[in-house]
Amino acid sequence: GCPGRLLELKGNIRVLCRLRPGTPCGLVSVEAGPGGTVTTCYRGRQRRFHLDWVFSPDASQEEVFGELEPAVLSCLQGYSVCIFTYGQTGTGKTYSMEGPPEDPGIAPRALQSLFREMGTGGQHRVTLSMVEIYNEAVRDLLAPGPPERLAVRQGPAGQGGIQVAGLTHWDVPNLETLHQMLSLGRSNRATAATSMNPRSSRSHALVTLTLCAASPPSAPGTAGTLHLVDLAGSERAWKAGATGTQRGDPNSAQRLREAQTINRSLLALGGVMAALRARRSHIPFRDSQLTRLLQPALGPGTTAVLLLQVGWGAGGSFVCEAPPAGPQALF
Ligand code: ADP
Ligand code: MG
Repeated sequence: GCPGRLLELKGNIRVLCRLRPGTPCGLVSVEAGPGGTVTTCYRGRQRRFHLDWVFSPDASQEEVFGELEPAVLSCLQGYSVCIFTYGQTGTGKTYSMEGPPEDPGIAPRALQSLFREMGTGGQHRVTLSMVEIYNEAVRDLLAPGPPERLAVRQGPAGQGGIQVAGLTHWDVPNLETLHQMLSLGRSNRATAATSMNPRSSRSHALVTLTLCAASPPSAPGTAGTLHLVDLAGSERAWKAGATGTQRGDPNSAQRLREAQTINRSLLALGGVMAALRARRSHIPFRDSQLTRLLQPALGPGTTAVLLLQVGWGAGGSFVCEAPPAGPQALF
């Protein structure tokens, strides 16, 4: 059994919000819980956001994961689940997703919970892949050599899906190996980011676990998938996008274009999620590598959870608006 209140997440998109501790309460007030509200007051402007779930600033890693665990465990029944952390640099995306060793975040807890649930019966085969998307270039973080740019192609007709040419998929026999591979991937991400650009916060990191039922012998469609995505910092898209969408701004279109070039994939992700939530017939998956890669994970019947991180971002700027073109449309 998978106890918990977010079990009904199956087949849905949900936006959750976590406030970084230390966010002054004069600026933000929170009604935590399901259907929570965040009220921000910044430069005299008040805004209210309604979210599917709001964690109070003192919510523990355990509490955050507790809400996500049922969705995570639904992978063992063949569901596809995608968890994102979204927000400005410095608002706690990596803290929530990875966490410090002494207080692990969503990813390590999810893996531990999955392996605990699978037990030692060997009924599942677990495979891992890990990529980074930096400036629309996709790199394998677990490849034996230095990370090379990989081509993303449409899979064979009829099979749907996306193929990343040359991407390595690793069999993971146990939790210990999994943790070792993840830390290898993380160190490769850091190296790759430094040689091109010191800001590792400008890349998305995608961890994909495939859980295949091995007994009874697996039939097509029984594989569950868990995607854990630590997104790039949203600050640029945020600023340009927020200005660009202001009514009466003559440069609005230009600013919006600028935002799209700078942080196209975050906008694309927002666009995809908004289209999925509105049940539109056209879902713009092809607008970015991120959404192309995640297309199978965001299609019908899949579960997506976006954890919106709020607080003081990089450079002391305060996040007081909904992200551009994205979750904004969901509120
Ligand atoms: P991001 O990945 O969004 O750039 P980080 O996860 O690196 O942000 O967080 C920025 C800083 O804030 C780090 O020093 C991190 O340890 C701290 N931090 C973020 N969220 C929390 C939290 N919930 N509790 C304690 N420290 C946090
Ligand atoms: Mg980070």
